Amino acid sequence: MRDTLVLNASFEPLSTVTLNRAVVLVLTDKAVVEQAHPELRMRGAEVDIPAPRVIRLCRYVRVPFRRQAPWSRRGVLVRDRHKCAYCGRRATTVDHVVPRAQGGADAWLNTVASCAEDNHRKADRTPEQAGMPLLRQPFEPTPQDAMLLALGRDDFDALPEWLAQPAA
Ligand SMILES: [Zn+2]
Repeated sequence: MRDTLVLNASFEPLSTVTLNRAVVLVLTDKAVVEQAHPELRMRGAEVDIPAPRVIRLCRYVRVPFRRQAPWSRRGVLVRDRHKCAYCGRRATTVDHVVPRAQGGADAWLNTVASCAEDNHRKADRTPEQAGMPLLRQPFEPTPQDAMLLALGRDDFDALPEWLAQPAA
């Protein structure tokens, strides 16, 4: 799927998002389409719009590109796309890789999204101690993650699949 360029309200390029996320931003009045794909449309029961190639946010967002985004639980879930770091299922909690009981910090590189079950099972142990290897290592949030956090919405993947069909 092609990515869509996101401009700030001031027309500065900010980041790219997937086409689906771009459409959700437009449908929720968070952004307007500045440029559309000539041949691709997003069609649904109540929607028929040209697939956006460039969108512009309606409201100016301050995105910390250089400075680190402040750590937050919601931020960890956004960064990890709500996928459990241990089993890949939907995550609703945040796990400390090195547990707080062992001195682990509230930090991007020490926290991962986790399903409640795995979080409970791992308890106050490291992945090695629990025999629960991480499917991927935690990382600093990307500018795209920082932008999504700044927009105050993280449920961009809720778009029905039929909406992302190329025009017939
Ligand atoms: Zn899990």
